[in-house]
Amino acid sequence: MAHPHHRALHAPPAARGPLLPSRCGAEVHPATPHRGHPLQKEQHPMSHEPLHPATRSREGFVGQLFAGKLRWDLVRAFPEQDAEERRQGDAVIAEVEQFLAAHVDPDEIERTGRIPPELREALRSRGYYKLQVEQALGGRGLSMLNTFRVIEAVMSVCLPVGYTLAIHSGLGAGAIIEAVQDGPLKDYVRGRVADGVISGWADTEPIGASVRRASTTAVPTEDGTAYVLNGEKVFIGNGSIADLLNVTATLQEGGREQISLFFVETSSPGFHVRAEHGLMGLRGLPIAALGFENVRVPKERMLAMAQEHWRNTPLLEPLSALGRMYIIVAASLALSKKCLQWSRGFLHRRLAQGRRLGDFDEIQRQVSATAAEVFAMESVARWSLTGVTADTLPLRWFEQVAAKNIASLTCARIADRTMSLLAAEGYETAESKAARGTTPVPLERTLRDARAFRVAGGVDFLVDHKAAREGLFSLYYPSASHAAELESPPAPLPVEEHLSPRNREHLQHTAREVHRLAKRSLDLSRRYPDAGVLYARQRTLILMNQLCNELFTMSVTLAHAAALASRGQPQADALADVYCTAARYRLEDLWRQADADAEPDFAGVSERWLSGDTLDFLLSDVLIRR
Ligand SMILES: Cc1cc2nc3c(=O)[nH]c(=O)nc-3n(C[C@H](O)[C@H](O)[C@H](O)COP(=O)(O)OP(=O)(O)OC[C@H]3O[C@@H](n4cnc5c(N)ncnc54)[C@H](O)[C@@H]3O)c2cc1C
Repeated sequence: MAHPHHRALHAPPAARGPLLPSRCGAEVHPATPHRGHPLQKEQHPMSHEPLHPATRSREGFVGQLFAGKLRWDLVRAFPEQDAEERRQGDAVIAEVEQFLAAHVDPDEIERTGRIPPELREALRSRGYYKLQVEQALGGRGLSMLNTFRVIEAVMSVCLPVGYTLAIHSGLGAGAIIEAVQDGPLKDYVRGRVADGVISGWADTEPIGASVRRASTTAVPTEDGTAYVLNGEKVFIGNGSIADLLNVTATLQEGGREQISLFFVETSSPGFHVRAEHGLMGLRGLPIAALGFENVRVPKERMLAMAQEHWRNTPLLEPLSALGRMYIIVAASLALSKKCLQWSRGFLHRRLAQGRRLGDFDEIQRQVSATAAEVFAMESVARWSLTGVTADTLPLRWFEQVAAKNIASLTCARIADRTMSLLAAEGYETAESKAARGTTPVPLERTLRDARAFRVAGGVDFLVDHKAAREGLFSLYYPSASHAAELESPPAPLPVEEHLSPRNREHLQHTAREVHRLAKRSLDLSRRYPDAGVLYARQRTLILMNQLCNELFTMSVTLAHAAALASRGQPQADALADVYCTAARYRLEDLWRQADADAEPDFAGVSERWLSGDTLDFLLSDVLIRR
């Protein structure tokens, strides 16, 4: 049976309207209702070429945005989930809802800090650790979007339970099957997935996740039949409950060094859980520090690769970006939607000066900002996942990379805003509220939980820096083949009939800003011919990536609103307007920072604090043990 991720959901030709020329020379379809697969051959003639994912992802919407083109023709018929596929997802969500109501007490998991083993086994026996696994292996056979939807639903009831499913589905052994070549290793992984193993991804080490070279080592045995692993990993999700782990380690063999990936059975002698981490949030998530002492791994359980680092192998990076969709983006959406709902409940209950709180100007702005941000995040998630299969995943790679920061930072804003809205009742624990008979909304827990997403999978500013280097600027170094196209201003986009006048203006503005960003990237690459010199100016890259993320989000939010309006649902237009208005203020601020030519002496202040005592007066009256 075909792997579900390979199912192509091509829209039948009859569903497409007459073709219009676009300013980019590509065929454009009018915004007629568009169902099914957005990644069609007409739009991406090379989509089945066996290219490196980075090359293919440049054909996608964000890849084109890096080149200065807002390809409205790609997004305007915003994809809708295929009806049959949606029914499958709805059915599993309904089933999961019943299961969670009967078996999961999120407050108890928060209080005890553990997911009971019986619950874990119940999740396993019902196949919730096999959401996207093909049915031939006993899995649910869900599409990527349905896997995401089910995980989001579980997270909305109990975040740590959803998180353990997400880590397994997103980064576990089954998640990376597509990157394993046919042969004994693939057969072994498939067999273990069929057995129902729980797994995770063990990469981070005490020295820091951003260090490229793993200090965990893999050394071939003398007889050449195995590798021996030694080292330590920290913050490994599912680490203390996993049967099988994908472990990164530095292999030295034949005078060559490779950072490779090993499939390690946790029953192997020498593997041990050193400790479970206690975290600020996500209480109950099994996350652990792990030790590897002479752990023997059969030779065929190393991922064969020609590259020096697993990150450079085709598909592994796109698959790990997909993993972050399940882990970070689904979680951010789940918590944000709950904040939106709690805001409504609170505002229904509370009055100020004898008036409904919801009648006040500032409150209306805050509530609409949260509603608009939820819609924008959903637009990013849907665009990044709808109709995507393993074959077409690279076309959404840059989108999925961007989604991590877009979602986690938006969720942090929403949780913080909701905290101010609910005021003291927001800051109070759910337990305390329940004890005094007030609605026990666990908002303070959400604020603690949400902070994890800006760290897990990479600290946000470091993710921005890496994404700018590997995404945006990979198009400008060593040289930009499209440089000449950027010399003249972009032609305006065709008027979008399904957007309000305000949103049409936002769209034209976004297109101009996309061009401005590309032109700035080109100018920077010319000013700094040595890419390393530009990359050392970290803030510049971070700002450029944040600009990209804002422009991507604005584009898909407008496209989603236009598509819904074309399907008779005009309500999202106002949400898109609220979102874009706020995003434009952020854009202005980002540009102001990017344009600044005279700056404070950051290096000097930092150095004075770190290397001397001239700034120690800052600590006056604070009693710190030295
Ligand atoms: C809830 C949670 C779940 C997790 N799950 C997993 C998991 O399942 N598997 C796994 O392997 N890991 C996991 N992690 C680890 C996570 O991926 C790392 O914590 C994250 O990538 C940050 O790495 P670090 O904590 O080692 O910080 P470091 O990388 O050590 O960074 C420390 C600080 O230095 C900064 N920094 C580092 N390098 C640079 C640089 N070049 N320039 C400027 N600043 C820099 C960072 O931004 C940060 O502020 C998890 C973490 C959390 C919180």
